[in-house]
Amino acid sequence: SYRKGGYHAVRIGDPFASGRYIAQRKLGWGQFSTVWLAYDTQASKYVALKIQKSAQQFAQAAVHEIEVLCAIADGDPSNSKWVVRLIDHFKHSGPNGHHLCMVLEFLGDNLLQLIKFSRYKGLELNKVREICKCVLLALDYLHRELGIIHTDLKPENILLCSTIDPAKDPIRSGLTPILERPEGGTLNGGSTMIEKKLKRRAKRAVANISGRRDSMGGEARKPARCLDGIDMRCKVVDFGNACWADKRFAEEIQTRQYRAPEVILQSGYSFSVDMWSFACIAFELATGDMMFAPKTGEGFSEDEDHLALMMELLGKMPRKIAIGGARSKDFFDRHGDLKRIRRLKYLPLDRLLVTKYKFAETDAREFLGFLSPCLDISPEKRPTAQQCLLHPWLNLKSSDGQSKVDDGMSKLKI
Ligand code: ATP
Ligand code: MG
Ligand code: MG
Repeated sequence: SYRKGGYHAVRIGDPFASGRYIAQRKLGWGQFSTVWLAYDTQASKYVALKIQKSAQQFAQAAVHEIEVLCAIADGDPSNSKWVVRLIDHFKHSGPNGHHLCMVLEFLGDNLLQLIKFSRYKGLELNKVREICKCVLLALDYLHRELGIIHTDLKPENILLCSTIDPAKDPIRSGLTPILERPEGGTLNGGSTMIEKKLKRRAKRAVANISGRRDSMGGEARKPARCLDGIDMRCKVVDFGNACWADKRFAEEIQTRQYRAPEVILQSGYSFSVDMWSFACIAFELATGDMMFAPKTGEGFSEDEDHLALMMELLGKMPRKIAIGGARSKDFFDRHGDLKRIRRLKYLPLDRLLVTKYKFAETDAREFLGFLSPCLDISPEKRPTAQQCLLHPWLNLKSSDGQSKVDDGMSKLKI
């Protein structure tokens, strides 16, 4: 991917925008870009520099992302709405082409790094609550005030608010080797790295109910690390796929594991797709496992497996919805039963939380009181972010997490 049309190779100390920004170290990357910590010599502060791949389709996506980020900044002059702020943008030319660059406020580790840091044990519910509040405030702003659907909410696209001074932590946060591109040598393509990452993640998914897939590889039985004292405020990033509700372009949206049923069935979508992803993320934060990690199997597709997993956890899909989408016939017969996966192993969410994740009955009940409505198969029945913000669960305080103690918390960059 470091070739014509692809990523721009950056070296520490490289100047951007006629020397205003100086590259410091790599913060992350995605399918569209690499993101670098840079020093803004004009404002004397650190910023994140998102350097887009140069090919036409990536440049177009960046133009769109900049447009969305400008609308977001214009509607939030005090930068208090839990969405990343665009500071500047410019074009940078290099050996691989012309790259659009976005200068963004510098944030901390993403939530996947946080989950990994917990050793996939999940966070205390009090911490999950704090994160949920920020994400809901961000969604309420995007949905209600701007009419924007994010369409790609996932742990990688939610970042902790950074309070560190990068000058004092010049190496890297050190939490997630899997998210770091190997330095020097041959660079793997971004998509290859992402595929590997997703394969690895799929292994630890909830997965196992149906027995259609391999059993989970035993995660090392180390205790979760203590996250005490870490500020759980966070912001939503990555508006490359965002759209206005009245101006949608893509039929297939969202990253697989966070994709809503109406997107798979192609029965039309709106703001409530973000609420579905939000619920999947909250579950993952609380348990350390992805809620749905579908796989292709012998005789069935990833889509059909995904629908089966949804029904196993949430109950049978109402026939009207099952057969109501443009793609319904690919998966369902006229009775509303899956065509190829005939035997489902139902395990309601509350049982799953108590038996597999050892939640106290009360915690499970209260948490699901908040979460389950967002996982309604009918999109129009899901609550809005505004309604969710009024839910009493967000103001509870539980006394969980006593046993989750360990070293290493100083490593976490917030
Ligand atoms: P995708 O493949 O998901 O579309 P992308 O190429 O659009 O990704 P982003 O998701 O915007 O890129 O950023 C990639 C990663 O870079 C993030 O997951 C995060 O770890 C890091 N990152 C992005 N923005 C910032 C920021 N403002 N501050 C710190 N790190 C950031
Ligand atoms: Mg991203
Ligand atoms: Mg993106």
